[in-house]
Amino acid sequence: MSKVLISKGLAKTYGLGTTAVEVLKSVDLEVAPSEKVAIVGASGSGKSTLLHLLGGLDTPSAGSVFLDGANINQLSVAKLDRMRNQRLGFIYQFHHLLDELTAVENVALLLRIRGLSNDESMEKASQMLKAVGLAKRELHTPAELSGGERQRVAVARALVGNPACVLADEPTGNLDTETADVVFDLMLNIAREQGTAFVIVTHDPVRAKRCDRILHLERGVLKTFSE
Ligand code: ADP
Repeated sequence: MSKVLISKGLAKTYGLGTTAVEVLKSVDLEVAPSEKVAIVGASGSGKSTLLHLLGGLDTPSAGSVFLDGANINQLSVAKLDRMRNQRLGFIYQFHHLLDELTAVENVALLLRIRGLSNDESMEKASQMLKAVGLAKRELHTPAELSGGERQRVAVARALVGNPACVLADEPTGNLDTETADVVFDLMLNIAREQGTAFVIVTHDPVRAKRCDRILHLERGVLKTFSE
């Protein structure tokens, strides 16, 4: 089956000359449709850097990323933006919702950018908020929601556009264990229903084990995780 996301020989060095830091040496990764891949590794091992490269938010020093078979490093900015909007979802440790918008407006925004009408965007956003158990919170702003609720809105926002793959950087890292479990379950359940692939950076071994595969980022390369 064709892969959703592939990286080949991906490398990233920050800085130049004597201050250069080689964070990623050669990362090879293949993510199949619907596959959930967990990436674990020590703090500072380059997990966030890798997710940024996979999402086309930063450019590699060497190697390439292919999304739906297209080399994203060769796309124009406009085309990459469009592809990112249509095929990828992002979830971060901090929710990154817009403070002045309600939950439903935050979720609808990506669809509006995609060109859907306001009514259709709000309707789809509303359905997705229902799916994450926030039907009664649609009109609340982020400041009026708990940490777990905000992260559920972030999950809804990442999945509302039915992306091929979601890139999640410590998506439950800011939540207490119980809330983190709920949000993580929710995320995987909706992803399963929609057939969404996930690349999840986490330092939590229990949650990593709920994924199909665990990879360990160590000294700039990805290896199959073994305890
Ligand atoms: P992780 O997510 O695994 O904690 P990061 O990808 O955030 O790791 O960072 C990996 C390394 O790259 C760290 O040593 C960090 O200091 C360095 N780094 C990250 N971003 C930059 C940057 N923009 N400029 C210079 N160094 C950076």
